Amino acid sequence: MEKARFLIGGVVQGVGFRPFCARLAIEEKLNGSVRNTSSGVELELWGERVQIDCYLRRLERECPTAAYIQSVNLLERQENASSPPDSFRILKSEEQSIRRVLIPPDIATCESCLEEMRDPSDRRYRYPFINCTLCGPRFSIIQDLPYDRPNTTMSTFSMCGKCSAEYLDPSNRRYHAQPNACPLCGPRLWACDRRGTTLAEGEDAIQVAAGLIFEGRILAVKGLGGFHLACDARNDEAVGELRIRKRRSHRPFAIMVRDLEAAEKVAVLTEKGRDCLISSRRPIVLCQARAGSGLSSLLSPGLDSIGVMLPYTPLHHLLLEELDVLVMTSANQSEEPIVADNEEALKNLSSLVDAFLLHDRKICMRIDDSVVSVAGNRAFYVRRARGVVPQPLFLPKSGPSVLAAGGEMKSTFSITHEGALFPSQYLGDLKSLGGATLYREALKHFLSLYAIKPEFLVHDLHPLYLSTRLCREVLPNPGGTLAVQHHHAHLAACLFENGIDEPAVGLILDGTGYGTDGGIWGGEILWGDASGFERLGHLVPFTLPGGERAIWEPWRCGMSLAYASGLQEEAKEWAKRKSTLSPDFARFFEVSIAAGVQTTSCGRLFDGVSALLGFVESVTFDGQAPMVLEAAARGSGSLPFSVVESDGKILVDWRPAIREIFAEKGRKSAGSISAAFHGGLARALGEAAALAAERKGTRRVVLSGGVWQNRRLFSLMMGEARRRGLIPVIHTLLSPNDECVSVGQAVAGYRKWGK
Ligand code: ZN
Ligand code: ZN
Ligand code: FE
Repeated sequence: MEKARFLIGGVVQGVGFRPFCARLAIEEKLNGSVRNTSSGVELELWGERVQIDCYLRRLERECPTAAYIQSVNLLERQENASSPPDSFRILKSEEQSIRRVLIPPDIATCESCLEEMRDPSDRRYRYPFINCTLCGPRFSIIQDLPYDRPNTTMSTFSMCGKCSAEYLDPSNRRYHAQPNACPLCGPRLWACDRRGTTLAEGEDAIQVAAGLIFEGRILAVKGLGGFHLACDARNDEAVGELRIRKRRSHRPFAIMVRDLEAAEKVAVLTEKGRDCLISSRRPIVLCQARAGSGLSSLLSPGLDSIGVMLPYTPLHHLLLEELDVLVMTSANQSEEPIVADNEEALKNLSSLVDAFLLHDRKICMRIDDSVVSVAGNRAFYVRRARGVVPQPLFLPKSGPSVLAAGGEMKSTFSITHEGALFPSQYLGDLKSLGGATLYREALKHFLSLYAIKPEFLVHDLHPLYLSTRLCREVLPNPGGTLAVQHHHAHLAACLFENGIDEPAVGLILDGTGYGTDGGIWGGEILWGDASGFERLGHLVPFTLPGGERAIWEPWRCGMSLAYASGLQEEAKEWAKRKSTLSPDFARFFEVSIAAGVQTTSCGRLFDGVSALLGFVESVTFDGQAPMVLEAAARGSGSLPFSVVESDGKILVDWRPAIREIFAEKGRKSAGSISAAFHGGLARALGEAAALAAERKGTRRVVLSGGVWQNRRLFSLMMGEARRRGLIPVIHTLLSPNDECVSVGQAVAGYRKWGK
């Protein structure tokens, strides 16, 4: 008889792991015990060596879907152990100082729970908070570790006899399901009007809410990580009213549909898209909108795509039984973070909605819906949040504790701790009023949950980033600091998530990032790894007339591109026809061209081209102009770009393309010119990448930066890479946009101080 003790690390708590261990022990006829500690799950097995080995193999192979085994470490092995236990038991959790347990993300309601919820004889029939060890809220309700009920926002509900019997029975599927609850003892639901006066409770509240939505009203619905604003997605008036109240004229609204069948009716789904929709992470999936679906055209004006998600809480399922498709957009005021607290909602959202659907389970950590985009058979995150966070990425070995501050617009922070790197959820724009508050909240939460005291600080090269300041608040005297260039961080992040520890060429295309020369970069050909980089080339620079204003008024970029291409007169003629410009603007414009800063931003190139082709003059959200340009593209073709080497730099020259645009405008449709712009740019980028790769003797080309969210450009580039024998290195775990910047920073710090 042998006794062996193991420590299992990974996502092993709150996901049905201990009952799984127990079941396996019974099957393998092993005795012993299992318990949660703050470092993981401790497993003690008594039996023959072969049985124990077999057990461990099955443990890894048959691991529950929501669990993830990161490590199995042998703590102790005794060959001729005496006095074995007579059974396999699940022991009480133990508090320890080190915290190596990974917290699971929030998990969509499982099939077994849905079946019970729909069974009239079940005691949880139509209960909107049904959950089990395999599903339900996790990250959003966990206040502290170990993950046990008193450390969650469920601590205020004491379980009734039946619930606690389930909770204590190892053979029950609710054994140690921390949010376990029923209509008798758990959270309750109610609907109220703007002033907070109750309209209905429980089951009736759902009927009342559905009725109001059906009548065209707008509701705030409390969900898992925050509130949604909900209205009828087929009702133009309601959607239009929501746009007015939210002061959001163009940015698309996501919808929630009853099931896959309902999704097929409003969107054209690919196999990959379907997989993403039904995954237990339940992200919003960007799909091609189906024509004639009856949905309001105001959902995503000017775009051919739509963000679709399936219900992921029991409450959603109940609500969607009444209405098969709903607008479900994050409840916030314009660019502010998502609202999650009842009081806060009543205070801040009552001007936006006609009524509320509330519950009394508190949300400890606010978190938005994740967004996934599907290009061909690939899916990538556009927003990494609910259902994914706080899952870490794993480092090759344990290293220093580094705090990385990230960017500023699509902000995140990242922390390395022992062998893991934790990227925060998407935290939004730090320049909004509540943005900094959410960033602070999340940072404090991560640090206290995992009891991390970071030693080192990494931040962007930009001297004024708010994220850097916010991190300095919690880490005023770091053991060392490192400034990482924005596009270098993109490159390092993408290499890291692909497990590549060698330098590669990077095609880093995005809006803007502060360059080592103080310039505004954004169309970069780099060479490097986490420890350093070299700028091999970039787009031909142009002026950003009016600085920041150029972002919101893409016609400025259009004019600037034309001027740089030697088309001053044509540009002035073009601008004369623009209704919004004053007649003598050209004079001012020339001044601002002369005084403006230079940029190599690929995002601004897209902005300018979108404006020149007449798609947008001014925009209301970041990325609007390129999105509309992409959506309009029809056919193929290729505008002329040239790739030249000058002073040892590889330059992608877009000026011939701009001249062609002016020559062809009016003769060809804007949609076909847009397609040719994408085609020509991809071809030039392919050529530039091949040149860079040849210079450096590599085949790897990293694609990172927000521009790669453009599915057309991405797919064309994949073709280019294949044709040229290049190996594209792309994001699949992280978003290509600035959310990944903090990850690249953290990896750079880990590398710097890790030796
Ligand atoms: Zn369940
Ligand atoms: Zn109960
Ligand atoms: Fe970026």
